[in-house]
Amino acid sequence: MAAGPATTPREIGPTADGRSLRIEWMDGSESILRPYDLRISCPCARCVDEMTGRRILRPEMIPETIHPTAIHYVGRYALQFVWSDGHDTGFYPFDYLRRLGEGGAGGSGRGGAA
Ligand SMILES: [Zn+2]
Repeated sequence: MAAGPATTPREIGPTADGRSLRIEWMDGSESILRPYDLRISCPCARCVDEMTGRRILRPEMIPETIHPTAIHYVGRYALQFVWSDGHDTGFYPFDYLRRLGEGGAGGSGRGGAA
């Protein structure tokens, strides 16, 4: 696993409007992550079948109003979110968060850089 400036968070906090999570990385870039996108991308064994890699979680079961009630660091490599639906078993490695922030979670309609 690659641990470098691109996958090391410098600052983690809410965006100005309080609706999304903002991660500023050591390489100077930032990721804006919608809580809903994060929740449906949960990589834990209850949301993704470990054997097949198939997603068990049904996005339609997650309310649009989902939000983290707590965020914990897991060592130096991941974040653990405690969600408002009570789900708390997902560890999100920083490189995974970085990938989600780069559009891996699907169209936000905001387009790319420049
Ligand atoms: Zn999960």
